[in-house]
Amino acid sequence: MFNLPDLPFEYSALEPFIDEETMRVHHDGHHATYVKNLNEALEGQTELLNMDIKDLLKSLDQVPEDIRTKVKNNAGGHFHHSFLWTILGSGEKEQPEGKLSEKISSVYGDFEKFKEEFKNSALKVFGSGYTWLVVNEKGNLEITNTPNQDSPISVGQIPIFTIDVWEHAYYLKYKNKRADYIDAFWNVINWEKVEEYFNQTS
Ligand code: MN
Repeated sequence: MFNLPDLPFEYSALEPFIDEETMRVHHDGHHATYVKNLNEALEGQTELLNMDIKDLLKSLDQVPEDIRTKVKNNAGGHFHHSFLWTILGSGEKEQPEGKLSEKISSVYGDFEKFKEEFKNSALKVFGSGYTWLVVNEKGNLEITNTPNQDSPISVGQIPIFTIDVWEHAYYLKYKNKRADYIDAFWNVINWEKVEEYFNQTS
């Protein structure tokens, strides 16, 4: 069985940038539903139910065809939200340091240029999806978009940072102003965690 992890902070911890009500609906509503639907889709599939969520997303071809789409969507929804909560926080550190900072500068010029490129990519997600910073198959940093709950994990990429641009992530506070939500998002990043994910890839 897959379980809903607690948020690693209070629902109100990201105020005023991400409001408490959005966090409650996002975690207790949306994320919880992905977990529930994933367990329901895999009922009776003991081996798949006991897999690590990332391994499941890497092995979708092993999932029976009649439930594969439902498993892909809900396993993605579960993993992506679990991942997202870990890279959010009080935003004490305004930007990454160390090896990740050096890598971002070498690929994008500097951190501000990276933010601009990431934002432009997030504005281009049509409908629901995510923008990611991943380490790709060649070991390079890459900004990439995924639709719906399709996962970078399933195509061999290692996510180190993301923004959820499904409307449920911002609509209560920002309505249709995705750009304002993206600008606010930079204030609530746990860069220590993003650095940790990056350092694990090398
Ligand atoms: Mn979401």
